Amino acid sequence: MCERFESGTRVSVLVPRDVGGCLDYLVPEGGVRIGQLVEVPLGPSRELGLVWGRGTHEVEAAKLRPILKELDAAPINRPMRDFMQKVGDYTLTPLNMMMRMVTRVPKLRESRPRGIVLRPTEKIPDKLTPARQRVLQQFKDAGGMPMMSAEIKELAQVSSSVLNGLVKSGSLVSESILIDERYPFLDPERPGFQLSAAQAHAAQELRNRVRNNCFSTVLLKGVTGAGKTEVYLEAVSEALRAGRQVLVLLPEIALTSQFMRRVGDRFGALPAEWHSEIKPKERMRLWRAAGDGTVQLVVGARSALFLPFCNLGLIVVDEEHDTSFKQDDGVHYHARDMAVLRASLSAAHIVLASATPSLESWENARRGKYHRVDLPDRVGTAELPEMMTIDLRAAEMGHGCWISSALTHAVREALAKEQQSLLFLNRRGYAPLTVCRSCGFQLGCPDCDARLVEHRFSQRLMCHLCGYSTRLPDTCPNCGADDQWSAVGPGIERLAQEAQQLFPNARIETLSSDYRVSMTDFRRRLESIRKGEIDIIIGTQIIAKGHNFPRLTLVGAIDADLGLHGTDLRAAERTFQMMTQVAGRAGRRGQGQRGVAFLQTWQPDHPVMQAIVSGDDEQFWAVEAAERQVAGVPPFGRFAVIKLSGPVLADIERLCRMMVRQAQPLQQIGAQLFGPAPAQVARVRGRHQFRFLIKAERRVPLQLALMQWRSQFQIPTNIRLVIDIDPQSFM
Ligand code: ADP
Ligand code: ZN
Repeated sequence: MCERFESGTRVSVLVPRDVGGCLDYLVPEGGVRIGQLVEVPLGPSRELGLVWGRGTHEVEAAKLRPILKELDAAPINRPMRDFMQKVGDYTLTPLNMMMRMVTRVPKLRESRPRGIVLRPTEKIPDKLTPARQRVLQQFKDAGGMPMMSAEIKELAQVSSSVLNGLVKSGSLVSESILIDERYPFLDPERPGFQLSAAQAHAAQELRNRVRNNCFSTVLLKGVTGAGKTEVYLEAVSEALRAGRQVLVLLPEIALTSQFMRRVGDRFGALPAEWHSEIKPKERMRLWRAAGDGTVQLVVGARSALFLPFCNLGLIVVDEEHDTSFKQDDGVHYHARDMAVLRASLSAAHIVLASATPSLESWENARRGKYHRVDLPDRVGTAELPEMMTIDLRAAEMGHGCWISSALTHAVREALAKEQQSLLFLNRRGYAPLTVCRSCGFQLGCPDCDARLVEHRFSQRLMCHLCGYSTRLPDTCPNCGADDQWSAVGPGIERLAQEAQQLFPNARIETLSSDYRVSMTDFRRRLESIRKGEIDIIIGTQIIAKGHNFPRLTLVGAIDADLGLHGTDLRAAERTFQMMTQVAGRAGRRGQGQRGVAFLQTWQPDHPVMQAIVSGDDEQFWAVEAAERQVAGVPPFGRFAVIKLSGPVLADIERLCRMMVRQAQPLQQIGAQLFGPAPAQVARVRGRHQFRFLIKAERRVPLQLALMQWRSQFQIPTNIRLVIDIDPQSFM
């Protein structure tokens, strides 16, 4: 039951505006419930409000303004309010901004469409005319379900007066109901696949945990193609059976359509979808249905975690290691970590699924904080692909060529057998660098310290940081030489060109986020790959994760070292995950067609390459964990990054000096402060970028110290200061 506040008392109301917390208002006639969405006067305008609790502020009673009205939406329940509070505390986001994020849906302040329906009662009318008989028969045929009067008039061929008469005599009652279109019913009793013994065992474990109705976390680790999805769908069916809501988070919206179809097959109807491509009308409907409890299953991107579910029983985070679960603008949160928090507040079960878990989750499982469930083999006859390195030091490759002869040979063989190949290179565009042959001048972005990337398909040069784009100039702006441009290094467009020359008869499809003109178009391309209308797929990381292409047997990673070069804490982990995932696309169907994955590398002896090839992932994680433990870095220590940016270098430098001088709050918790240092890309969109890195032990009150530290400075209005707790990138 919700706490109610009596009319005439004062309550504190949260508004989605930067006013520094809650504001007090007077409860109107009829009272309000805690968690109720309302409309309140704010300055000269009206604003959305959320009744947060008892009034607190020292505002004179005479100056209090009353709440204007209650909105037509279910109250935000306690677990959701606690979630907003805790995410705010963790990420150092003011509660007002949390509310803004949670309520960013259209038309929240408008009333919902309602209609009048008629429902039959037990009472038989005294005068049973043929018209009245037809009406009652229609209701009988519909199993006693209520109907709109227009509908029944049409079906029974009667006039309004007949219906009015039946209402008057008490044989029908009229009711006002929401006419939001209902989500189709997902039937948990429909049978799924016949599970393998390992799958069945894992599924049983998950089902038991869902049935327990309390918070617990499972790391579901299964090799690529192990049938993890079928296993966690069993947990989904258990939660649905118990009448609780389920949220499945996926890292990539391109994966949703494939997933939706699988859920559709399993439960007989499509679940609701939530991501950036969803239309405003549907967002509004889903947001409200989450609060009403009328939507059973939502499949979505990370932001779906902030839907106001009223009865959440299960969360699944699929591909839990994926970097796209971290939001790096606005509220800097990691959806996987916050999903665990949300589950704990909702007494829900949570499943983190991956073939290549994050070291964080792996370590949490090792320490017994998460329960681990393993699926060590692929389903059916499919085997994991054979993994091999190709030593680029020994490979003789022509100028401007990137596909080694060993890989070329393998692709030819696959083509001959009518099997698909995937060439993977995590670099968009044609070439990462364009230089002038006569003077060596490199084309750069005018607003960022970044090179421009040539995109030959669209005939543009683009900055991948700010989106600036321009035509390739005819002459060099530095030396004036005519058309002396030389492309340096490969991007996937260049790779596609090379593949077209090597395999002139092959049907080639190139996929990267650049070609994702529309989601529909992208899905169409994925579908044609699945149907076998493509021989060679050339793609960036968007093709590496989650997809199921039954005819694909060969994977070639063009530059397996690409991710290793950085100084990033997670460079080894990311390379390991990316290469294992992309290789895992091969040979998923089985039937005697074992997949092969080739990794072209300059460092075949590098421990990461060795770990990938040997497939000994436990060893890899154990070594990686030991190294990080010694260094005291995540997940054994904590990081925070402070990002400062602004147009005037001197202003930022002044602020930075002050921040270093007054770092006592950080010293008090034993945290180390590194920096300030210019960011890896020191200027973006004309703004200078500086970074501080803070390293602390796991159990210290880092957020509190950061708050105290920040509160000492007046931040000039032209400088933006962002705190990123548990950063995934230091860019
Ligand atoms: P993962 O998510 O572990 O990579 P999936 O759940 O996508 O694996 O399963 C891989 C493929 O195997 C899918 O096409 C799926 O439909 C199929 N599959 C999974 N479990 C079974 C099963 N028990 N029987 C038959 N096919 C299955
Ligand atoms: Zn730029």
